[in-house]
Formats: sequence, structure tokens, C-alpha cells
Amino acid sequence: MHNLLKRQIKRHLADKNIDPSLLDPFLNSISDSYEQFESDFSLLERAMDLASEELIEKNNILKHEVLERKKAVNELMEAHNHLESRIQKRTEELKDAKEEAENANQAKSEFLSRMSHELRTPLNGIIGFGQVLLKNKKEPLSTNQTNDIKQILLSGNHLLGLINEILDLARIEAGKISLSIEPVDLHQVITETISIVRPLAESSEISIIDKISTSSNQLILVDKTRFKQIALNLISNAIKYNRPKGSVTLSYETLSETNKLRVEITDTGIGISEKIKEIIFEPFSRFDAERTGIEGAGIGLTITKKLTEMMGGGLQFDSQEGSGTSFYVDFPICTDPFIIPERIETEPQNPIFFGNKDQYIILYIEDNFLNLTLVERLLEDFSNIQLISASEAKAGIQMALSKRPDLILMDINLPGISGIEAMRILQNNPSTREIPVIAVSANAMKQDIDGAMREGFKQYISKPIDTANFVATIEKYLQSPK
Ligand code: ADP
Repeated sequence: MHNLLKRQIKRHLADKNIDPSLLDPFLNSISDSYEQFESDFSLLERAMDLASEELIEKNNILKHEVLERKKAVNELMEAHNHLESRIQKRTEELKDAKEEAENANQAKSEFLSRMSHELRTPLNGIIGFGQVLLKNKKEPLSTNQTNDIKQILLSGNHLLGLINEILDLARIEAGKISLSIEPVDLHQVITETISIVRPLAESSEISIIDKISTSSNQLILVDKTRFKQIALNLISNAIKYNRPKGSVTLSYETLSETNKLRVEITDTGIGISEKIKEIIFEPFSRFDAERTGIEGAGIGLTITKKLTEMMGGGLQFDSQEGSGTSFYVDFPICTDPFIIPERIETEPQNPIFFGNKDQYIILYIEDNFLNLTLVERLLEDFSNIQLISASEAKAGIQMALSKRPDLILMDINLPGISGIEAMRILQNNPSTREIPVIAVSANAMKQDIDGAMREGFKQYISKPIDTANFVATIEKYLQSPK
């Protein structure tokens, strides 16, 4: 190639008269440069080929990677969608399960409410008429009859206690207990509780050594009614499972590290055997007691422990079989000195006395003949009370309009219009609105009572009727200005 170039250059320069000794080296140097250029160029070409091959390869790798990534992204999206649909499905399943559980819970509450109603109605008859018989001065009973009736009342009240305990446990388990935590005067509750259990202690010849009420004042943060229930259960157990002429000691100490107050109830009784210590807080575990013939259902301690824990406290015990038991119940101490609960002194009950009006009219709207007769008997001693009655709400409302009674007693489960609806009608009529109305019902669940009170009932008396309280309540509303 460069020879051809040389010849052409020679031909172009032939007529230029150039010295051949100069021309040849010139041509040789051009030829060398050309050769160098050719070799450099081929090297460059090779380098470019190599680079482009590498680029193609890299490009392919990148393409592959992009594809792989796209695939992974798609897979991820698919997994995400799958997960989302699974979560949605699971959420729906959980929602259904929750609804089902809520329905079941509702059904359970309704069942309990009904069962309680059905059991309380006949008990109302048994306990109420028993009490009527005992206090019947016109036809006094013989000593034997009085003792028999007392037994009937004892059994009736025992059965009522059992129903209440079972309902209580069911309510706690269903999470349906509402607590009102407030500063409570320990001394006051203990004094009130002791006054309730004293007859039981005296009949069993057990002395109660109260070191709480004699020491300085203490405030704890609890629900007063539930705390009293706890104290009542532990102290009555200490009396029940004691030995004749034994004792129950009540004391307390401050646990400064936890800021709690520990109430101790120590008895000198039969103690708790090793085999039942483990299960003592399980419902219906009363193996020891079954042997002794001491009455009970075996759920008092279960309720006591659950209530204690719900109030932020704790319950423990220590027992030596044959020599006695100590229960320790701890509750938060109220440290805020500005919250001091009112100290309500327990007053002796006033003798029953009905105002000075010549004649009071009480209307009782009740479909159950037994309940009506019981109330008739309870009020028959009061000559200035006239009891009128209706067995269904419509007739009762008519009577309220025509007779203008001083007080209305209203059953809730009535045929046709319910007691609640009847109450609404009475409240909407200006001529009956002012008459105080008391609900008397065997529905004793809190939601029934709260619901009725919202309708404007002055009070809610649940059956079985406690006759003394019943009469006192009637007296209160007859005397108070309408
Ligand atoms: P109940 O007294 O109705 O049987 P509790 O749940 O209150 O039910 O008590 C469960 C069981 O624990 C009792 O049956 C009894 O065996 C035992 N127990 C409870 N308190 C005492 C105590 N102070 N001394 C001995 N045994 C006790």
C-alpha cells in the first residue's frame, strides 16, 4: 500500500526537479509514518472492538438484571397483594369472630338476667311470706313453727346468696363489673362489716378482735361496695372455718415499698390443707369444707381475688392445717390529703312510721298474684294506707289518672305494655308526672336497674323484697314532698 503511495508521490514530483537523494529519505519517512499510523489504527480498532464487546456484554448483563429486578418487583407486588387480601380476609374473620363472641356474651347476659329473674320471683314469695309469718302479731306462731320458718328463711337467704354469687362471678368473667374507685375510710368499712357478721360470730362463739378501728385513720383507694364484699367474705370465712370459742383478728400494716395497705384477717380455725392450697382460688374448690358440712358454694374466694385484682390490689394467704389461717389483702393507699371522703355514721334504723295524712293511696301494678299478696300483707298493718292494684299497665295508668295515688309500685315485666313503657306514659302526662314511681322487679342486673332509673323511677327494688327496706322506702316516698 505504501509502495503505491510512494510511486504516486514520485510521479507528482517528477517534473519538480527534486534531488533524488532528498526525495527517497522523505518518501521513506512518509512510508514509516504511514506504517506507524496503520499499526496504531489497527490497535485502536482492536481496542474499540474490545470495548464495544465489553459494552455489549455489560449491556446484556444490565438488561438481564433489569429483567430480574422487574420479575422480583412483580413477585413482590404479587406477594404484597396476596398478603393484603389475606390480611383483609383475616380482619373480616376476626370481625365476625368478635361479633359472634359479642352476641354470645349478650346471649349469656340475657340468659343470666332471665335466670336471675326466674329464680328470684319464687324466692321473693318464699322469703317474703316467711318474714310475714314471723312478724304476724295477730296470729302468732308456736315456737316450733317459728323455728321452722326461721329455717325456711335461712335456706331461702342461702339460696339467694348463691344466686347472687354465681351472677357476680358471671358478670366479672364477662367484664361487666364497673368499679367506682374513690378514697375510702378503712375504719368505717371494717366497722360496718363487723356489724353485719357479728350475729354469725356470736352464734358460733367466735370473738372478733378488731385492731383496725382502734388505730389511726386510714384511706385506701377502692370501690367501697366491692371492698366491703371482699372484707365480708374473708371475715365470714374466718368465722365459718373456725373452732368453737376461737377468734378472728383484724389488723393492718403499711407496705411502704409498694405504697399499699395490707389488711390481715387471721383466724384460729381448721386451716387449709396442702392439697387445696393450690386450687383455693378456683371456683367450686371446697374439698375441706365439704367434709365439715359448713355451707358454701366455693366461689367466694374466686370472686374476692378477682375483685381485689381489678382494684389494683392483691390477695394471699398463709395457713397451718389445724391451727389457723391468715389472709392478706393489699390495696393502694390514698396519698392525696385533699380527697377526704365524707364519714357517714351508721345510724340506728328509725321505727317505721307513716306520715300524718289520714289516707295514702298506693297503686301496685303487678301481674304476679303471689307478689301482690305479699305486698298486701306487708302493708296491712298500716291503717292509713290503701293499696289498690292493676295486673297490667294500661289498667294501671287508668287507675293512676282516676285515683291519683300518692305512690306507684311498678313491676317491669308486665304483659302487654312493659313497666318501662308505662313509666314513659306516666311521665308524659302532666297529671301523673309528679307521682313518685318505684320499680319492683326480679330483674336484678345492673343494666336493667340503670336503664329503669334513667326513665325516672325514684328507686329500684329488686325481688326478693327485703321487707324492712321495702317498708322504709315506701315511708320515705310517702313523706317526701312530691
Ligand atoms: P365457701 O366458703 O362458700 O366454700 P370460698 O370460695 O369462700 O367458698 O372458700 C373456698 C374454700 O376455701 C372453702 O370451702 C374452705 O375449704 C377454704 N377456706 C376459705 N377460707 C378459709 C379459712 N379462713 N380457713 C379454712 N379454710 C378456708
